[in-house]
Amino acid sequence: AEVTHNGTENVTDDLFAHAREVIPGGVSSPVRGYGSVGGTPVFVASASGPYTTGVDGREYVDLVCSWGPALLGHAHPEVVEAVQDAASRGLSFGAPTAAEVELADVVRSRVPVAEQVRFVSTGTEATMTAIRLARAATGRDAIVKFAGCYHGHSDALLAEAGSGVATQGLPGSAGVTKAAAGDTIVVGYNDLDALERVFAEAGDRIAAVITEAAPANMGVVAPQPGFNAALRDLTARHGALLIVDEVLTGFRVSPGGWLGLDGGYAPDLVTFGKVIGGGMPLAALGGRADLMQLLAPVGPVYQAGTLSGNPLATAAGLATLRLADDAVYATVDARSLELQAAVADALTAASVPHHISTAGNLFSVFFREGPVANYADAKAQDQAAFARFFHAMLDSGVALPPSAFEAWFLSAAHDDVAMGRIVEALPGAARAAAHS
Ligand code: PMP
Repeated sequence: AEVTHNGTENVTDDLFAHAREVIPGGVSSPVRGYGSVGGTPVFVASASGPYTTGVDGREYVDLVCSWGPALLGHAHPEVVEAVQDAASRGLSFGAPTAAEVELADVVRSRVPVAEQVRFVSTGTEATMTAIRLARAATGRDAIVKFAGCYHGHSDALLAEAGSGVATQGLPGSAGVTKAAAGDTIVVGYNDLDALERVFAEAGDRIAAVITEAAPANMGVVAPQPGFNAALRDLTARHGALLIVDEVLTGFRVSPGGWLGLDGGYAPDLVTFGKVIGGGMPLAALGGRADLMQLLAPVGPVYQAGTLSGNPLATAAGLATLRLADDAVYATVDARSLELQAAVADALTAASVPHHISTAGNLFSVFFREGPVANYADAKAQDQAAFARFFHAMLDSGVALPPSAFEAWFLSAAHDDVAMGRIVEALPGAARAAAHS
């Protein structure tokens, strides 16, 4: 039902104004605020399958999918039922559960390099812990990250980060100490020569290289063939660890994440989030058992969480991974190709410079000609054209991620009807992108 407020003002505008009075920017996470595209964000009242519904009653085909977790679509009945069942048995115990053990087994069977698994609540915690572990294991302080990669908002990892940091055009974050920033070395993505130089100069200071398995937070930028394997060789030669961040790619691009597509090398530590919790707050850190054994209570590296391994989150994760069979991945792969083709057709027909960049079934659209191999390339796009495109899609009932630096997320619930609505919206949005 269409809800109007005061007869004139949209209910959403009123809510956003109120939200900004009581919540910074009106949002609990920055990109949600539409800062780079302008306008009032959709305040979601409910979601089901491939759709979200705003508080004003408008329905959208959702290409955000909670920024990745909703691999099966929103509110999959079996996942919701698993959570309801778990809820009826208690919301949080602060004690070990059988379901955590079961989920650890599922993770291990899909991603064998995760010999042991520790559950946390957010991707930020997973990568933060991985770095602490790497520093403890090596006795070294420095870490290397790549420009445009996002690993959450811990101090060590905000330098030249992707996601909202990229969307806002920030070099990093205020409030990070010089010492913390000084221990983070940033290298251009896909630039092995630069990385070799860094290791030649400072190799004995470097505890770890952390990389997104396939970056998707500066838009999607695939690793060049052999890049991740080369990271493995280089880190091993210098006694540093390799941390592969699969928070976004894990259990989304294949049953075994990016490592399931681009194997042949073994990272020391790997991080998970998003799909692993099926929409509930759950993330994990996994890796070599000898390293994982450094975690408390076995070893000296402290890490803990009141809500870690939360039974509702664990239930959602187990149900999601149980349902995420080969057919689900085949569907998402096929829908991704279908949408890429439709977007390319529409943008080409409207003469909008663009480059569709993929990594497995992940893709994003850069509003510039390709190739896009790193963050500098990603930044050199026409963000104003994206903003026009975004709003035209939204007006037609399709919700894209509100940033030119994000992957577009599909789910197995995006059926012919939902895809049809997207395809119908594209030509008009492409024309809007073309005309400033
Ligand atoms: N790593 C990657 C690759 C991510 O995409 C994200 C979130 N977008 C994170 C870490 C941080 O996860 P969270 O938002 O759950 O803290």
